[in-house]
Amino acid sequence: PIYLDYAATTPMEPLVIKNMIKFLTLDGTFGNPASRSHQFGWKAEESVDIARNQIAELINADSREIVFTSGATESNNLAIKGISEFYKKKGNHIITSKTEHKAVLDTCRYLESKGVRITYLNPSKNGIINLKQFKQHICEKTILVSIMHVNNETGVIQDVKEISKICIKNNILFHVDATQSVGKLHIDLNKIKIDLMSFSAHKIYGPKGIGVLYVRRKPRVRLSAQIHGGGHERGMRSGTLPVHQIVGMGIACKLAKKNIDHDYAYLKDLRNYLWEGLKDIDEVYLNSNLKYGAPHILNVSFNYIEGESLIMALKDIAVSSGSACTSASLEPSYVLRALGLKDELAHSSIRFSIGRFTTKSEISYTIKTVHKAIDRLRNLSPLWEM
Ligand code: PMP
Repeated sequence: PIYLDYAATTPMEPLVIKNMIKFLTLDGTFGNPASRSHQFGWKAEESVDIARNQIAELINADSREIVFTSGATESNNLAIKGISEFYKKKGNHIITSKTEHKAVLDTCRYLESKGVRITYLNPSKNGIINLKQFKQHICEKTILVSIMHVNNETGVIQDVKEISKICIKNNILFHVDATQSVGKLHIDLNKIKIDLMSFSAHKIYGPKGIGVLYVRRKPRVRLSAQIHGGGHERGMRSGTLPVHQIVGMGIACKLAKKNIDHDYAYLKDLRNYLWEGLKDIDEVYLNSNLKYGAPHILNVSFNYIEGESLIMALKDIAVSSGSACTSASLEPSYVLRALGLKDELAHSSIRFSIGRFTTKSEISYTIKTVHKAIDRLRNLSPLWEM
């Protein structure tokens, strides 16, 4: 089978695994980094420090700004709930967008039930937040803006630099869900004032179950912990650090930094090649932006075809309709609907996402197989007469 669902998760780099297994057994560094009284603890802590630095370097941050979590879902929860709680005296209004990941949207819905006011911005047709409209929603009570960098369904890139400038002017904290952009696009947190940023290791060839919330130190951002206990991670997220996961994320980030330009060019070429192979199919619509989108995602709608039936027909090719997180439901993608797509087109969308291990011959095979499947399904469809 061919794996074209890298936006859902990636396989791990062998070098990542090779390093991780050194942190599990008695003859390795299995200790608890919080054990201050013996060298098993010290060694583990040293390894965590190295990984923290590797992760910080990828985004040009300070290692003290890295807070380990179980993944981007938890990071998004911690950022939004943590800020809302800590700054509640200052205000109770948060601005986000309709095309965010559920980990942001459902967290916001939860806060609404606690009396927080949330504005869900409607992106333009091309998926990009209209900055003028955004500014109009800012008020005295606005404490946080949460906007993702790269959309996980379409690959659309938001102008986080411009959004951050508006946040600075209005003295509002800015959270970015960068799960789909870290390791793919250059992010320099020294050059752009993002206050909080979420990402996961498993989207960049690292292990699942580990992620980071970046929390800015200058100027210092405070937040209320959501998991209480031993006061780990400077009190922001308690719990014994999973050293092997952290080391794995560190190596994954080091590799991402080294390969970022090569990966970008490689993925962009493959994605363009895939689109070239599909674009002549009748009634095919591109839901991604080839020029301004992230390089690893190609979202396409095939009119008069049910996305789900196409996925079945492509049985040896792993793709998804919408995101893995919401594909349990048969609802058409809320992201594509927010971009103004009709239900039918939203229903007939497929997300192809590629990665470092994707080959050109896999893409050629995919193009051929999609053509065959579309022909067959349309011949069966009573709606299709051409
Ligand atoms: N945000 C975005 C944009 C994502 O793509 C994902 C993963 N689908 C998440 C958050 C959640 O990440 P995780 O499953 O690692 O918690």
